[in-house]
Amino acid sequence: RAKSNASDSICYYDANMDDVVRHHREMVRNLRQAILKNELQLYYQMQANVQTGELKGFEALLRWTHPEKGPISPALFIPIAEENGLIIQLGDWVLKQACKEAALWEKPYKVAVNLSPMQLMQPNLPKRIHEILLDTGLSANRLEIELTETAIFEDRERSVHVLRQIKALGVNVALDDFGTGYSSLEVLRSFPFDKIKLDRFFMDEIETSSVAKAFLRSVLALGRNLSIPVLAEGVETENQLRILQEEGCDAIQGFLLHKPSREVPFEHNLDFADTHSVKSAAGPSDNL
Ligand code: C2E
Ligand code: MG
Ligand code: MG
Ligand code: MG
Repeated sequence: RAKSNASDSICYYDANMDDVVRHHREMVRNLRQAILKNELQLYYQMQANVQTGELKGFEALLRWTHPEKGPISPALFIPIAEENGLIIQLGDWVLKQACKEAALWEKPYKVAVNLSPMQLMQPNLPKRIHEILLDTGLSANRLEIELTETAIFEDRERSVHVLRQIKALGVNVALDDFGTGYSSLEVLRSFPFDKIKLDRFFMDEIETSSVAKAFLRSVLALGRNLSIPVLAEGVETENQLRILQEEGCDAIQGFLLHKPSREVPFEHNLDFADTHSVKSAAGPSDNL
C-alpha cells in the first residue's frame, strides 16, 4: 500500500511502537513474576584443565522457562532486566541459588557466577556475598564471580574498591569475555584478577587466521607474565583444543566438553591425552 500522507505513516509507526512497548512491558512484568513462580533455573557448564582434562569447576548460567513461551535465552532477558533495575533482584537470586546448590554438590568444585555491571555498583554487594556464603555454608574459596571489562570500566575506581572487598572475603574474581572491549589491558592493570576468560569470539577464527593465533599467543603470554591463568571460552572442536594445548592455554569451557545442563556432570570423563576420546554430551533439551 502506497503512503502519500504523512499522518498515515505516523499512525502506522505509532501502532507499531505501541506493540513494541506493550511487548516490552509484558516481558518486564513476567520477568518480575518469574522468580516468585519458580521459572528460573541455573544450568552448569564445566571448566577443565587443557592438558589433563581434569575438572576445575562449573559456571552457573541463568535460564528462564516461560510457561507459554518456553525457554528464553539470558542474552534476551538480561539486557531488559538491566534496563529497569530488575537485575538486582535477579542477580541476588542467582548468587544465592548457585551457592545453595554448590554447597550440596557431592564434590567441592568451584562455582562461577556472572555479575552484571549494575550489581557491581551496589555498595552492599560484598556484605551481601558474605551473608550468602554464611547462609548457604559454601566456603568462600569455592565461589568465583565473573565480570566483563565493560562492567569495570564504567566506574573503575569504585569497581576496583568493591572487587578488593570481595576478594578479601576469599572469593575469586574472573575477567569474562576478555578481548571484546576496548579497555582490556587497562582493566587488567587495575585489578589482580584470578582468571582471564578469553571470549569465544577468538575461537571462531583460531583455526584459520594467523592474526587470531597471534592474539591468542599474546593473551597467553600476558597471562603467564601476570601469573593469571587463561581459560578459553566456546571451544567446540578438537582442533581448537589441540591448538590451545600446543599454545599452553590453562583451561577450557565449551560445547566440545558438553552443553550447559541442569545436571552437574561430575562424572564426565575427559582424557585429553587422546583428544579423540572427547565426546559431546549434549542432549536436545539443553540446547539453550
Ligand atoms: P558468558 O558469561 O560469556 O557465558 C558463556 C555463554 O556462551 C553461555 O551462553 C554459554 O552457554 C555459551 N557457550 C558455552 N560454550 C559454548 C560453545 O562452545 N559455543 C557457543 N556458541 N556458545 C557457548 P548463555 O548461557 O546463553 O549466556 C549468555 C550470557 O548471558 C553470558 O555470557 C552472560 O554474560 C549472561 N548471563 C548468563 N547467566 C547470567 C547470570 O546469572 N547473571 C548475569 N548477569 N548474566 C548472565
Ligand atoms: Mg561468564
Ligand atoms: Mg564469557
Ligand atoms: Mg558473554
